[in-house]
Amino acid sequence: MENLTQKLSKPIVEKVAIVGAGPGGLAAAIVLRSQGIDVQVYEKAQEFRPAGTGLGLAPNGLNFLDAIAPGIVETLKSSGCEVHHTVLKNIQGETIQTNATKYLEQYGQPLLTVWWYHLQQVLASRLPSDIIHLNHRCISFDQDENGVEIHFDGEKPVYADLLIGADGVNSVIRETLFGEGKPNYIGSMCWRAVIKYHHELFNDYELVFVKGNKQFMYILNVGGGYTSWISRKLSPDYSLSHSADEVKSRILHELADWDESFRAVVEATPAEQIWEGPICDRPPLTHWSQGRVTLLGDAAHPMAPAMAQGVNTTFEDAYELGECFSQSANLQEALTNYKQRRLERTKIIQARSALGEMRYYDDTSTSPGQTEQRQMPLNEDFSKWLYNYKPSVTS
Ligand SMILES: Cc1cc2nc3c(=O)[nH]c(=O)nc-3n(C[C@H](O)[C@H](O)[C@H](O)COP(=O)(O)OP(=O)(O)OC[C@H]3O[C@@H](n4cnc5c(N)ncnc54)[C@H](O)[C@@H]3O)c2cc1C
Repeated sequence: MENLTQKLSKPIVEKVAIVGAGPGGLAAAIVLRSQGIDVQVYEKAQEFRPAGTGLGLAPNGLNFLDAIAPGIVETLKSSGCEVHHTVLKNIQGETIQTNATKYLEQYGQPLLTVWWYHLQQVLASRLPSDIIHLNHRCISFDQDENGVEIHFDGEKPVYADLLIGADGVNSVIRETLFGEGKPNYIGSMCWRAVIKYHHELFNDYELVFVKGNKQFMYILNVGGGYTSWISRKLSPDYSLSHSADEVKSRILHELADWDESFRAVVEATPAEQIWEGPICDRPPLTHWSQGRVTLLGDAAHPMAPAMAQGVNTTFEDAYELGECFSQSANLQEALTNYKQRRLERTKIIQARSALGEMRYYDDTSTSPGQTEQRQMPLNEDFSKWLYNYKPSVTS
C-alpha cells in the first residue's frame, strides 16, 4: 500500500532536460511539469523565429493535445484553420475533384491546419519562459547510473536525471546513442514557405492539392492571413541550390508550365523565406532509450510527410511518456513501457508513410479516383486505427 501511494505521489525523477523546443519537446515539457517534475528545455535557435511548414493536425493528434493541455485545441482552432474540403486540381488550375472532409463526423475532431511556428508559440505560452533556454545547441552528453551531463556549444553543461532528445530528424541525441549517420533520402525534393497571402482562387477552408508530372504542390491556409505552400518533385538524386535567389528561380522553373495562380504564390514569396531540402526518414528503431536517455517525435521516428502524421504521433509520444512516468515504479520501468506503447504503432505509420510518399509519383495519370487513392492510401480500417487513437481512460 505504501509503495502504491509512493508510486502515485512522488515523481520517479526530479530533473528532466529536454533538447529541442519543437512541438514534441514543448508538449513533453507541459506533460512532465504537470507531474511536479523540474523540466528544462534547451533549444539551439537564438530566438523563436517564424519558421517551419504548414501542418495538418489530425483527430489522433488533437485528442492527445487536448489531454496534454486542456483548452489548447480551442486556441489552435482560432489561430489555425479548420479544413472543410480537400480540392484536387490539375496544373492548368482546373478542379478535378472536391471532397468534404469527414473527420469531425467520423472521428470526433476536425482536420486543422496550423503553422509550425504558431504551434510552437501556443505550446510555449503554456510554459514559464525561464525554463526554455534558447541559443543552446546540444553537441553531446555523457551518462552514468546516477545521471546525465549534457554539453552545449559555448554554454555550460547541465545535469539531469533524464535526457529527452526531441531534436528532430537530425537528432544529435539519437546519433550519440545509436550512431546511424545521416537520414535516408527517399527520392523526393521539397520547397516550401509560409507567407501572408491571399488569392481569390483558393478558398479559406480548402486544402488544395495540385498533381503534376512527378511533382505536386499543396496550398493550405494556416490562419491569420498566412498561406503555406509545399512543392515537391521526384528526384532520384538531390542537389541543393547555392543561393536563395537560385532556389526561387529553380522552383519557378519547375512550375514553368503551371497555371499562373500557382506560380503567383511562389512569386509573392521573398526568396530567403523559401526552404529547400530533401525529404528523409529513418528505419524504425528497435530501442528508443539507453540508460537515462530517451527519444521523442521526429528524433525517434522521422517519417515521410505523405500521411501528415509526424507531429500527430509526436503528441501521442509526449502524452504516453507522461503516462508511463505516472504509472511506473522507477525510470527503467517507465522507459520500457514507453517503448512498448510507442514502437509498434509508429513503426506501422512510418512504413505506410514511406509507401504513400512513392504512390504520389506512381504515374502521371490524373484520373480522380486513382489520384485520390495515391494521395491517401488509407482503407477504412486503417483510418479508424489511425485517427480514433485516444488517450487511455486509466489516466
Ligand atoms: C514538408 C513537410 C510537411 C509536413 N506536414 C506535416 C503534417 O501535415 N502533419 C504532421 O503531423 N507532420 C507534418 N510534418 C512533420 C512535422 O513537421 C514533424 O513531425 C514535427 O515537427 C516533429 O516535431 P519534433 O518536435 O519532434 O521535431 P522538430 O519540429 O524538428 O523540432 C526539433 C527542435 O529541436 C531543435 N534542435 C535540433 N537540434 C538541436 C540541438 N542539437 N540542440 C538543441 N536544439 C536542437 C530544432 O531547432 C527544433 O526547434 C511535415 C514535415 C515536412 C518536412
